[in-house]
Amino acid sequence: MIPIAAFRGRPVAVVGLARSGLAAAKALQAGGAEVAAWDDAPARREQAAAMGIPVREPMLTGAAAVVLSPGIPLTHPVPHAVVTQAQAASVPVIGDVELLFREKLGAVIVGITGTNGKSTTTALIGHVLKAAGRPVQVGGNIGAAVLDLDPVGRGGIYVIELSSFQIDLTPSLNCDVSILLNITPDHLDRHGDMEGYVAVKERIFAGSGTAVIGVDDDWGRRIHADLLRAGNRQVIPVSVERPLDRGITVIGPSFTVTRDGRPEPAIDLARAPALIGTHNHQNAAAAVAACFALGLDAAAIQKGLETFPGLAHRLERIATQGGVAYFNDSKATNADATAKALAAFDAIHWIAGGRPKAGGIEPLAAFFPRIRHAWLIGEAAEEFAGTLRGRAPCTIAGTLERAVAGARAAAKPGEVVLLSPACASYDQFADFEARGEAFRALVQGGAA
Ligand code: ADP
Repeated sequence: MIPIAAFRGRPVAVVGLARSGLAAAKALQAGGAEVAAWDDAPARREQAAAMGIPVREPMLTGAAAVVLSPGIPLTHPVPHAVVTQAQAASVPVIGDVELLFREKLGAVIVGITGTNGKSTTTALIGHVLKAAGRPVQVGGNIGAAVLDLDPVGRGGIYVIELSSFQIDLTPSLNCDVSILLNITPDHLDRHGDMEGYVAVKERIFAGSGTAVIGVDDDWGRRIHADLLRAGNRQVIPVSVERPLDRGITVIGPSFTVTRDGRPEPAIDLARAPALIGTHNHQNAAAAVAACFALGLDAAAIQKGLETFPGLAHRLERIATQGGVAYFNDSKATNADATAKALAAFDAIHWIAGGRPKAGGIEPLAAFFPRIRHAWLIGEAAEEFAGTLRGRAPCTIAGTLERAVAGARAAAKPGEVVLLSPACASYDQFADFEARGEAFRALVQGGAA
């Protein structure tokens, strides 16, 4: 835990008592603040009380700050009542990451955001730094809440995944290395519109540290131009679409990594088994840029890329049986995410379905020629079979168990079996993790 002394002896309201709220309350208490914690859900209040955290309705008059959970609306669709009350009482509303910035004690902070790939890039940077022997802690929107991390000390590194909601609650944000991977429309209900969403993401570059920016989408290119125009910091553009004469790129069939236009022969993504697919190359390129900025050399970076185990449920290779590789991409709950997985392979036994999203799988039509056979499950099965009719062979398997059995019987050596559902899991599973674990158990069970 990182004790927060900035509010010693002063009243602070902590509102929202999930993972990050509980950590903030404990960290503030440890630093000597007078904590009053609250959650609208009685079960969460009981859990906090059982941990020795003082629970009472937020008294905002005289409070030094309200520490708000990123899950609670700050602006859209409508601000939570506590936010309006705090604003009326001129009490600042901040998040747990703000507390870390106020108490970083000489540590280095790497902040990662983007619409997609945040967790993978965060875990990858943490792994590469650890492999290189740097003192590092990884958390934020992935794994542990930032204030639950161990202090890294002066010169140590916090690698922090930041959602747009967390950025919104961090007025002192000033990362030593900031990364914005990509921007596509997402969470617009919570940001009002695309402009609001982009404005929050762009705030990852508040401050003066090194800026790493993906330039393969229009918003990224615009922000890159703005950063260059401001001219007050190191800016590293990253692309997997075209060679850049500045920055880091991954290009060509052999995934050559270039730095400022020159190949980096010591870095070879073909030898990084967990970083398959162009989307992961974007994540890797950003990680490479960050690690160079932190002073690692190419050989140390390559060592980390090669040994990165990947994250569960994200194009995760779980087995190879009889020359057939099995990939668990249960995290792909929409067509956009599934497109990345289908793009990564040529001959696919595709397990898809669940609770469908608007638009279904029609946006994936360009990849249908790669599908040897689709095995369809859950509520979406009939609809998806309709979309595939005459374009790719498919079977309505219904359950994941029958889909795995069908795919296993049909797949030939060199082909892959890919669970990338393009659907939510809730019709048959508690969440995407439970779906991925069920797939893992079926695949590994079948091997015995
Ligand atoms: P996030 O933390 O932003 O949700 P993850 O690293 O957990 O991202 O990856 C989630 C899914 O998003 C992956 O399974 C993959 O389908 C997709 N994805 C990952 N990286 C990228 C990227 N750089 N660009 C686009 N999609 C990506």
